[in-house]
Amino acid sequence: MPRSNFSPSSCLEMKEKAARSTAEIAFVIEAEAAAAMMKEWGVAVAPELLVALVPAALRLARPPISNFHVGAVGLGTSGRIYVGVNMEFPGLPLHHSIHAEQFLVTNAAVHGETGIRCIAVSSAPCGHCRQFLQELRGAAEMQILVTSDGPGSAFLPLSSFLPRPFGPPDLLHKDHPLLLEPHDNKIALLDDEEETEAAGCGGICNGIGGALQERLRAAAAGAARASHAPYSKCPAGFAVADSEGRVYAGSYEESAAYNPSLGPVQAAMVAYVAAGGGGGRAGEGYGFVAAALVEPEGVAVSHEATARVFLSVVAPRAHLKVYRFHSSAAA
Ligand SMILES: [Zn+2]
Repeated sequence: MPRSNFSPSSCLEMKEKAARSTAEIAFVIEAEAAAAMMKEWGVAVAPELLVALVPAALRLARPPISNFHVGAVGLGTSGRIYVGVNMEFPGLPLHHSIHAEQFLVTNAAVHGETGIRCIAVSSAPCGHCRQFLQELRGAAEMQILVTSDGPGSAFLPLSSFLPRPFGPPDLLHKDHPLLLEPHDNKIALLDDEEETEAAGCGGICNGIGGALQERLRAAAAGAARASHAPYSKCPAGFAVADSEGRVYAGSYEESAAYNPSLGPVQAAMVAYVAAGGGGGRAGEGYGFVAAALVEPEGVAVSHEATARVFLSVVAPRAHLKVYRFHSSAAA
């Protein structure tokens, strides 16, 4: 049912104010900054601020194939606000795309958020995202507002968007950690690391030094530890480094319905963009120089081939190193 503390008229006013603003917003807004923004804009409750920020979020989207911008703004249980946008990758199959709601949840995961209370999104969540959001604790009660519904729009529970869901309760014990809840998968890397190189590396590997390689390995291993992969029990993490030596990592996030799962490569792209990376915008390449993947050995789910294909198109000169661990160690 609609939230009673939401006022569509004042929301529309704030939305118009935000739409006129040319200022960019950050992908993560701290609770204190959100409170200051609410005071400045005369917004009474946080859900209204989410709605007001959607137009600014839309401007951050990177959909060069569809040119259909999607922006989502969510309130975490910590009081932080997270922005999500859709991302598309020309030259790759469409399933590499990242939806705004997936971006938002992954952005929250990267920043240690443990829950999402409500989301304002520019267009109705697609079936894929309605399913993906089932991985969050209390998904049925999560409140969602679709701004394209206009002045009469209201926050409605996710259960009204997907009334009879298939999700974690169908497959997992009720106490099993869900997406955004703390995970600590046991990752003990094997000594006999397998090394592969993306096309174009030619064995030179861009002069990647051991220190950067070690930082990439550590970041990817940390992401694998935090990975939500309760269905396949194949947690994985991926990390990329840009030419300045900055490292961005993402965790594999599984869906009970399998196909809506978000791979670790996509999750790392979210971390990169959320940290201010410009890649994916018109005229801007990604410029990654190296990458690392951490995943179990010899199991049913592997991201290595996907990572290689992705890098061959997005950053063909990037050097990829794959680290494996015993699958029995995976939680
Ligand atoms: Zn979607």
